[in-house]
Amino acid sequence: MTADRPSRWRRGTGHAAVLVAAALVVAVTPASAAPPARAGAPGGPTPGAAGIGDPLFPDEGNGGFDVTHYELAMRYRPDDRTVTARTTVSARATQALSRFDLDFDGNTVTGLTVDGRAADYRRDGDELVVTPARPVPRGARFRVAVDYRADPAGTHHCAPANSPITSGWLPTSDGFVTAGQPSCARSVFPGSDHPSDKASYTFRVTVPDGLTAVANGAFTGRAEHAGETTWTYRQRVPMATELVQVAVGHYTVQTSAGPDHTTIRNVVPTSMAGTLGPDLAVTGPQLAWMRRQAGSYPFATYGVLAAPANFRFALECQTLTLTSAGMFTALPRSYWSPVLAHELAHQWYGDLVAPARWSDVWLNEGHASYYEASWADRQGYASFVDRMHTAYTHGDTWRDRYGPVARPSADDLFNEGVYDGGALVLYALREKVGAARFTAIERAWAARFAGGSGTTGQFVALASSVAHRDLHGFLTAWLYGTHTPPMPGHPDWRTDPVG
Ligand SMILES: [Zn+2]
Repeated sequence: MTADRPSRWRRGTGHAAVLVAAALVVAVTPASAAPPARAGAPGGPTPGAAGIGDPLFPDEGNGGFDVTHYELAMRYRPDDRTVTARTTVSARATQALSRFDLDFDGNTVTGLTVDGRAADYRRDGDELVVTPARPVPRGARFRVAVDYRADPAGTHHCAPANSPITSGWLPTSDGFVTAGQPSCARSVFPGSDHPSDKASYTFRVTVPDGLTAVANGAFTGRAEHAGETTWTYRQRVPMATELVQVAVGHYTVQTSAGPDHTTIRNVVPTSMAGTLGPDLAVTGPQLAWMRRQAGSYPFATYGVLAAPANFRFALECQTLTLTSAGMFTALPRSYWSPVLAHELAHQWYGDLVAPARWSDVWLNEGHASYYEASWADRQGYASFVDRMHTAYTHGDTWRDRYGPVARPSADDLFNEGVYDGGALVLYALREKVGAARFTAIERAWAARFAGGSGTTGQFVALASSVAHRDLHGFLTAWLYGTHTPPMPGHPDWRTDPVG
């Protein structure tokens, strides 16, 4: 994610009203937090845990099963601007389950079945507690279908403090978009809302003729019936819930051929297609540049969704970055072009490889900010080294205010120390091992953990392995130290005093 921050405006044009933030995505390793069998019932069915035990957000995700696939079926009604939906969660039980939780917040549940049989359910905060008619055996595959009604314009409270994303549903002038990071996907659909439990997706979105529906992944079909059209998309590469995008509106979908057999797909309001289309032509050159840094683009499609709504962030939804269309009209290219590079970099760092825990979010934002600054430098907008030097001067202040780079608080997950502070860690690594080995590390990380998630410790271990030197002490000081270590190659750099 990129959120609007005052520092982002220093090189802008002074338009004070529009903001964009790019969001990042995080994915994590599979949940493994099944609780022990209850005493007295060894091996018997027991309730799944309410969360996977993320240290920052312990109730996120769920214990006792692993989601393998989501099918999101939605029907949008413009007359009352509501959505009726059925989400079908396909999962495999990792323990014998007497009951289990799904993460789900808001909306009105109208029915629920497990493997086609009606099941008992109750709402408990943002947990949907499901008791199937018969226990689910360990290792069994099962499907949960949840029917519900949603009001995208309604009030949803799903975000941690200080997040620019405050609702999973974002109403637009003619429909809606979604924004799940970090904890808002649960207000759009029920599931296991933690990036460590990735799954594939099918989207079937029904809208009246004249409206267009888009979602993550590849477009696979469109069926018209009685004045409505159902649009179908498939996301085959596992995706974190927070990266889901479903959008409905008067859009024009602009496609072209990209590198690595990728289809470039930009989605713009039809009324702005003439102006935004040329702006978004930057997608191709950015893809070609980014693949040289991180390796081949990992998904079948990539593009930007420019939504007709005034929100102040951009989010790296997998294969389809969400932005506000207003960013392109109110802000200069020197602002939005690096933001788009940031979100594109997330496709490797955050999406393809998700954070195993939310405290690993610097692996998303640090990398995305690093390539954002690299692209800005390459385009002549701003000096990369100057930005790193500035970050260095703030280093101790950020660590004092937010905690070390790899130990953020839940109240301020997306802080400057994670973004430019994280980029600074990567710059220090590059200065330590050299540009060629740094690029080798970057590519190896994306390749090694493709489709899954990784921890900070795994990144440190991989960097050491690829660089053929023990970097544990060096990177531990940069990632977990309360003071900013000396910058290799820049003995004259100093941090500003705290306070
Ligand atoms: Zn980001």
